[in-house]
Amino acid sequence: MPEPQRPLPQPTDLTRPYWEAAAMGELHLQRCGACGRWQFYPRPFCLACESGELHWQRASGLGKVYTYTVNHRAPNPFMKARLPYVVAIVELDEGPRLMANVLGATSADMAIGRRVQITFEPVADGLALPQCSLLADGAAA
Ligand SMILES: [Zn+2]
Repeated sequence: MPEPQRPLPQPTDLTRPYWEAAAMGELHLQRCGACGRWQFYPRPFCLACESGELHWQRASGLGKVYTYTVNHRAPNPFMKARLPYVVAIVELDEGPRLMANVLGATSADMAIGRRVQITFEPVADGLALPQCSLLADGAAA
């Protein structure tokens, strides 16, 4: 049997800057030129002030666990090999929240508020997916 293929995102004109930065291992988010707010996921206007004056800016890649779950059932055949795995919603230091797998974590490692760093896993030519790693307690708080 062929190896199960991982479902991959399909970049659009709106999301392409995010994916291009991700492929280089960098987290870039939209930031509003009018009010300064960061936002994710990408949208054609600012959610806070409705300005269309958005630009892409590199974010710190640091944040904290807002909430998490431990998956024991895979949503697709590819992820079956990784069970059980932890998925977190990360509240980035810039404000927006992003969902990512927590690499190498078990439920015993997890707690709301733990500091994490976003990393990128190359999955195809020019495409990398966001993941996160737990930082040691007390690191970069
Ligand atoms: Zn704004």
